[in-house]
Amino acid sequence: MSSEGDDAVKTICPYCGVGCGIQIQQGEDRGDVNFRPWGDAPVNEGRICIKGGAATQVIDHEDRLTEPLIKEDGEFREATWEEAYDRIVSEMERIREEHGPDGMGFYGSSKTMNEENYLLQKLARRYGTNNVDNCTRMCHASTVWALRTSLGAGAMTNSMEDLEEAADVFWIQGANPGEQHPIANSQYFRQAVLEGATVIQVDPHANKTTRSFDIGETDRHMHLQVNPGADIPLLNVVLKTILERHEEEPDAGWIDEEFIAERTEGFEHLKETLADFDEEAAAEEAGVPLEDIELAAEKYAMANNAAIFTGMGMSQHTCGVDNVQNEINLALITGNLGKPGTGVNPLRGQNNVQGTSDVGAMPNVLPGYQLVDDDEVRESVEEVWGFEVPDEPGLTNVEISHEAGKSVHGLYVMGENPLMSEPDGNRVEERLNSLEFMVAQDIFMTETAELADVVLPATTWAERGGTVTNTDRRVQRMRGVEKVHENTKHDLEILMEVGSRLFGEDGFRFDDVEAVFEELREVCPIYHGMTYDGLGEEGLHWPCYEEGDEGDQFLYEDSFDTESGLGQIEGVRHQPPAEVPDEEYPLILTTARLEEHYNTGTMSRRSPTLSRQHPENFVDVHPNDAERYGIEDGDMVQLRSRRGEIEVKAQVTEDIKEGVVWTTPHFAAASANRLTNDVLDDRAKIPEYKAAAADIAVT
Ligand code: SF4
Repeated sequence: MSSEGDDAVKTICPYCGVGCGIQIQQGEDRGDVNFRPWGDAPVNEGRICIKGGAATQVIDHEDRLTEPLIKEDGEFREATWEEAYDRIVSEMERIREEHGPDGMGFYGSSKTMNEENYLLQKLARRYGTNNVDNCTRMCHASTVWALRTSLGAGAMTNSMEDLEEAADVFWIQGANPGEQHPIANSQYFRQAVLEGATVIQVDPHANKTTRSFDIGETDRHMHLQVNPGADIPLLNVVLKTILERHEEEPDAGWIDEEFIAERTEGFEHLKETLADFDEEAAAEEAGVPLEDIELAAEKYAMANNAAIFTGMGMSQHTCGVDNVQNEINLALITGNLGKPGTGVNPLRGQNNVQGTSDVGAMPNVLPGYQLVDDDEVRESVEEVWGFEVPDEPGLTNVEISHEAGKSVHGLYVMGENPLMSEPDGNRVEERLNSLEFMVAQDIFMTETAELADVVLPATTWAERGGTVTNTDRRVQRMRGVEKVHENTKHDLEILMEVGSRLFGEDGFRFDDVEAVFEELREVCPIYHGMTYDGLGEEGLHWPCYEEGDEGDQFLYEDSFDTESGLGQIEGVRHQPPAEVPDEEYPLILTTARLEEHYNTGTMSRRSPTLSRQHPENFVDVHPNDAERYGIEDGDMVQLRSRRGEIEVKAQVTEDIKEGVVWTTPHFAAASANRLTNDVLDDRAKIPEYKAAAADIAVT
């Protein structure tokens, strides 16, 4: 296979947030679109994981939506675009007239591009509501909250390149890059460990990440198998150990006194919070031997440069903001911020989950994380847009579905599948069914689209161009081949048409995707210095304020972007999950994803290569629990929570801790999200996917 086909198109993998470059080539038959490696792609240098290599398999899949559909008497019928637009516009106008603008909700999507999400949130705001959100809410809303308020920007502080070169300790908590960010894990983290770095993994589950660091040198790989929901006690032991050792050996470099004095505030609060802290009890709460946590603390504190990676094991809790705040505390007291090889770095799950938030598809911020309730911000954006933006933050996506049929009566869903992705799926189904009107814009008939009134056939990632922003803030261009199905439309085209029909062409009709990017950068300070052409093949990291700026590989070299310019330290205390095991539900259910599947499986379940690896769901059960419940490896079991039940195959394994069961949300027939808890972190409004009380029985 040629590595550089003459007419191959350079674009970005549509799956995870690493943002690997790939090439695609279209044959004479438009449906014949094939993968080609991109040898000198900036992020991955030609390497690819199983998902990226199989990404073209969905482009000409027989299940593609190819015509607009309208539901009549409970059945879909094919419709013209004209009919579909008429229905959408008349229903949206009716809902606004009868219920006001907050009667609608809008879901953006991290599977779609910056320009598309930008236009969707502009459409919502022109409609008169801030009820617009995206799936960041489900994965890293708490991380974004903590990073934004304590450091300044809701994003990775550093970039892959500087981390690989400079970090000598990787602290990976609640993230599983071996499954979820395979190229980052193999190319950057594992490579660094092979060259001498140490990795400390904190996770209740032994997984591909654990095994990828098994290089025969156990002193450079620790796996702290923490109990789900006990990350604060574990990190508080780390912090307390570091503070105590500093008292004993003030010159040994346990903390960075100069950094604390000059660049932070709140250190006293942390010390007070930990003053009466009982380390032994906390280690027991965490389910990890005290001496192991102390050793991990020493390795982190004594590193020249230590980098924290944080994932959904940390963020998807009712204490998600505090979990991440404690990671920030650790980085700040040791001076591990503002230089290469350090920082607090969320690993983002989808190829544009960073960008979807950057461009303002969130209820509380306008493009560039500018607060919607700040008069000055609103005025500057209104000047460009030419209409008034509502000044109160809107509902988040889980709140929108909670309110469906109550205060929210219509929903516009672009590329999302909330019936599968939101917690307590039975409740979501009931709520979505109580809407007066829903439009779903997608490439396949998703479980959510089945409930819609109008379904619009969109084009795939490979058939259109635009920009996406990867996990380390690199804005990159995607480029497309010819459309495979004539009557499908690009998401941007659809949004322009709906916007123009509702509000007139001014502000909603653009010549091309570049024109939308031009307007985006006008209202989004962190993208302001980027030009569409200037992104080239390398892309640019934000912030990029002025044309010619090269973008920042790492943030906060001189000061933090907080009001005082100082990093905010704040001690936090343990808050158990909202649901803890009891007599009726004696186990802790936790969830995570598999390398071969992608979120709700809309695409990956249709890929023969990916689906073959894991055709159905399963649950990991510890051997002691299996014995107690009479479960043999391979038995079908019923897994129950207070919200529902699913039937899955049991996998008896020591990968999971005793008392904990682990499963995935990818499979419609038995999705973990029929069981998960929809209780929210009260600030970031992220649901507690990672800990629920459950029970199990052989069927
Ligand atoms: Fe795609 Fe992520 Fe795999 Fe790279 S690591 S090929 S971006 S799924």
